[in-house]
Amino acid sequence: MAKASGKPKKKSAKKASKKTAKKSTRRAGGTSRGGASVKASTPGGTFKAPAGGMKIRMYRQGFGDCYLIAFGGENGAQTYVMIDMGVVYAAPGKPATMKSIASSIHAATGGHVDVLVITHEHYDHVCGFKFAEQELRRISFGRVWLAWTQDPKDSLAKSLHEEYGQQLKALRAAAVKLKAAADDEGCDRLRRFLSFDGELTASKGLGAKEDFSPTTKEAMTIGVGLAASTEYFKPGRVIDDVIEGVRVYVMGPPYSKEKLKETEPEKNEAYLAERAALAGFIGALSDGNAETLRPIDKAYAIDEKAAGTHEFFAREYFGNSAKNADERAKRYDWRRIDASWLRAGGSLALQMQNATNNTSLVLAFEHVRSGKVLLFAGDAQPGNWRSWKDVKFNVAESAIDRDADCVVTSDDLLAATVVYKVGHHGSHNGTMKGEGLEKMTSRDLVALLSTDKEQAEKSGWDKIPKPELVERLMQRTQGRVLSADHEAKAPDKNRPASQASSQKAWKAWVDRVSEPEGVLCYDVEV
Ligand SMILES: [Zn+2]
Repeated sequence: MAKASGKPKKKSAKKASKKTAKKSTRRAGGTSRGGASVKASTPGGTFKAPAGGMKIRMYRQGFGDCYLIAFGGENGAQTYVMIDMGVVYAAPGKPATMKSIASSIHAATGGHVDVLVITHEHYDHVCGFKFAEQELRRISFGRVWLAWTQDPKDSLAKSLHEEYGQQLKALRAAAVKLKAAADDEGCDRLRRFLSFDGELTASKGLGAKEDFSPTTKEAMTIGVGLAASTEYFKPGRVIDDVIEGVRVYVMGPPYSKEKLKETEPEKNEAYLAERAALAGFIGALSDGNAETLRPIDKAYAIDEKAAGTHEFFAREYFGNSAKNADERAKRYDWRRIDASWLRAGGSLALQMQNATNNTSLVLAFEHVRSGKVLLFAGDAQPGNWRSWKDVKFNVAESAIDRDADCVVTSDDLLAATVVYKVGHHGSHNGTMKGEGLEKMTSRDLVALLSTDKEQAEKSGWDKIPKPELVERLMQRTQGRVLSADHEAKAPDKNRPASQASSQKAWKAWVDRVSEPEGVLCYDVEV
């Protein structure tokens, strides 16, 4: 509820939660104050949680995130939280899907969303804001929650964005150069990786600025602008004055450049060496001028034209004495690196994707009365996960605070998690094992997996989702995994998953899941 100023003040948890209850009752039905339209706890629309309960809707647009949570107040009023809205570039029919999701959210909420959370700036989490802008503008949004990495006033965030911009410039220059060198395969691979940053207008050919229209940034800007009030969060914050009966814990992203760059489950040296090599790559390319790019210093290079007239190079590198093109390709071409060094850009692009994933705003919603936690991990990667154990939350009193010392830890939150939004679409580095999934010990655990194998493959990620992770999720949840994959079917009462603990438990689970709009979404009662 609360302050419409966009600058929530710290207060003691005890005082705040008492106040919250009072204010929610008084302002139920909606009101606005001080510029932002804060209308928490409205009567709601077609999607409602029972009084004092929670309901989660997972849209099934494919490989991408869009969630809606309804929190039912004691008097039945609803508070709606929406998280992300996007799908990968490779998904078919994106605009139409996003528009129907927006219309669905409008009907579901009665036209008001209290909190819009945008986890991070990636196409598969934000493109819907652009495709369905018109439809979304018909919904009123109370406030937008973002990670500190989006805060224009934060100096660390600023330097991260500058670095990112430089790397992006280098990659675009590399793609142009690869195209010029007729390395279509290398160029296409890089373009596919670049799609996380926006739409590529493939038909126009490379070189023109329009080839890299900044769709992701544009969509992000639209999303952020949907509400008058934006708030940026660092880990350690407890937000207990917005949703009646709910505490929101900000777990990540870590306020540390080093941690944001930890994107692999194990630290390995080869990986670090690669990063150093890539720094050189960026140095060579970041002026963005495709003409002046070179893998080695000019002083040690020989001009291609001049080399062609030199007897040794003409014979050994250009294969002038070869009988035909075939022999030339086989015997001599390997000696020339031409544009192949530029293919290293693929690794850089992947690292950039991972680093941005690590900026995901990770939120845990604690339903105070039941002690149930919903964990939304965005696309957090190992550096983000690892940082959670250093974050301590001071709260007055909580059922999930296992040693009752008024400090809630990430272990407490993981142990109480009943709904886990699987990190990064089920990739090998999106869910930590020992420090993550194995600590989610609730017998009620449900996993929501926003992935689609075919779309992942089309995007160049042939190892998402990771089969071993999906198998472990199935075990830990006793088969209660809902996937956005277009091939996945809703759970069937008569066909219990092999991991189900009993027929009865399986039936009880199936009763909690519904498909109110066909294959568009799942609703889960918690
Ligand atoms: Zn994603």
